[in-house]
Amino acid sequence: MRVHDRRWMRRGNRVVWRGTAEGNNRREQVVTLQSNVWAALPSAVQQRLFVPGKFSEMWPLGPDSPESKGRPRNIKIRWIEDALLDMAQDTYGIEVIPEAYVRPDRWDGLHVLAIADGARSATRDSLSAHFGTPSRELFSVDGSPLDERVLGIRVTAKVPDEHTVPLTVAQNRFLFNSLGGGFINMRLTAEEASEIVALGENGPVSCIGNTGCTMRPSGGRFVCDRHRAVFKPSVDKLSYLWPRILDGLRFFGVGAADVVGITSFTLGMTQMSKFTAQLAPSTFGFLLGDAANSLHFWPGRGLNTGLKSALSLAVNLQKRWRGKAFRAADFAAHEGIMQQLQYREKSRAWTTMLMPDSEGVPRGIEDRIREGLQGPFDRATLVSTLFERVLDIKKRLGGRMGTLATDEWYYGRINAMDVRTLKVMVESGPWITREIGGEEVVVPAAKASSPEPIRRGLSLVS
Ligand SMILES: Cc1cc2nc3c(=O)[nH]c(=O)nc-3n(C[C@H](O)[C@H](O)[C@H](O)COP(=O)(O)OP(=O)(O)OC[C@H]3O[C@@H](n4cnc5c(N)ncnc54)[C@H](O)[C@@H]3O)c2cc1C
Repeated sequence: MRVHDRRWMRRGNRVVWRGTAEGNNRREQVVTLQSNVWAALPSAVQQRLFVPGKFSEMWPLGPDSPESKGRPRNIKIRWIEDALLDMAQDTYGIEVIPEAYVRPDRWDGLHVLAIADGARSATRDSLSAHFGTPSRELFSVDGSPLDERVLGIRVTAKVPDEHTVPLTVAQNRFLFNSLGGGFINMRLTAEEASEIVALGENGPVSCIGNTGCTMRPSGGRFVCDRHRAVFKPSVDKLSYLWPRILDGLRFFGVGAADVVGITSFTLGMTQMSKFTAQLAPSTFGFLLGDAANSLHFWPGRGLNTGLKSALSLAVNLQKRWRGKAFRAADFAAHEGIMQQLQYREKSRAWTTMLMPDSEGVPRGIEDRIREGLQGPFDRATLVSTLFERVLDIKKRLGGRMGTLATDEWYYGRINAMDVRTLKVMVESGPWITREIGGEEVVVPAAKASSPEPIRRGLSLVS
């Protein structure tokens, strides 16, 4: 088995992740793994990942994290990447190749090509004759593909992770996923997004939002290490966005001095027609991870879905490998799981993007934020509406998670907000947990041991 990644490099006789000095911005987000997913990982992987201090249990039990398996776990992507690259070399003896994967002219001897090179997968695009072209048609409004801009504000946190859960669930403007710190994500209107500008010495430069750059604190401003450009809202006294960002931080008990980085993401979705393709008589290709299903991250399912897709393929290969070439029929079960995941997870993410109102009529986040920013403002009613919501959520989730903060603490957080922020939060609505909840896709479990290991002739682009 060979695995390629272009963000790796050789150091002595090891392969390690490239860092900033080598032109790679490491992923810093905290992700939530559902227990149906983390409990299905090999036990050696679980032992390596889940060591004290490297994960926390912040979110409550739910359909994809049943009581029998345990609570969802927060963990840093960077830690997963480090731990698994070490295990690939030390535990599993996988050949790791620190180079970009280039599609060969011939597939001689390769049984399986697992394509997991991210949402903008170049390998998938080079094989469009086999997989088709991703379509944005189904994720459009009035004929235009829907894209959302989100600001990711990386912070260190002072309050226990789980205390912030009712605050996150009570509204849809800000989302805080934490492991002693993490990203406070903020959904933006198009006007707010147009304020996300990086200023170089001679005016705006292509940086945050286009190149995955992170702006870090430096002398009271936020500056990109790579382009030396300044995050304009942080120095613009007329910025509408900056005070709204600071209000969002205050909501979660975080101050401006606790911000360690600011970045921005554009989120849209595409539909794939298939995930499994026969590339040559005895070579099959599989789309996995974000290359297969890239999701809006608000419901927190991208990595979970990616791991479910990888698990499904592994189990299918284990069941069907007989020491000779595979046939198309061998992968009907895996392709079925992939189609189920696409339906389930993209329906959930699309509902989150469209945000239906109480009558089920779509009322997208942009409309809601714009409405919230306009008067009239009745501060007392806004505070009590949001506080009631938080108390309801606290009561509902209380039995499914650890200790939450006192009612007074939540009241203090809400009452500290500017009236416009309060109205945006009220208009953005609480999480639509009923609409996006329900049964989850079940991936068949692996057998204890494989009849014959399939190692040779398997390539992974990760
Ligand atoms: C802010 C944020 C919060 C999130 N929160 C959650 C959460 O709570 N729960 C959750 O489940 N998910 C979450 N996600 C989503 C999750 O991070 C992604 O779904 C997941 O990281 C995708 O993994 P991947 O390996 O498929 O793709 P990627 O992480 O994009 O990895 C692709 C890899 O392929 C490599 N590559 C690209 N081209 C080539 C090539 N030609 N040759 C070799 N290598 C190549 C790249 O270097 C990269 O390392 C979140 C995402 C964001 C942005």
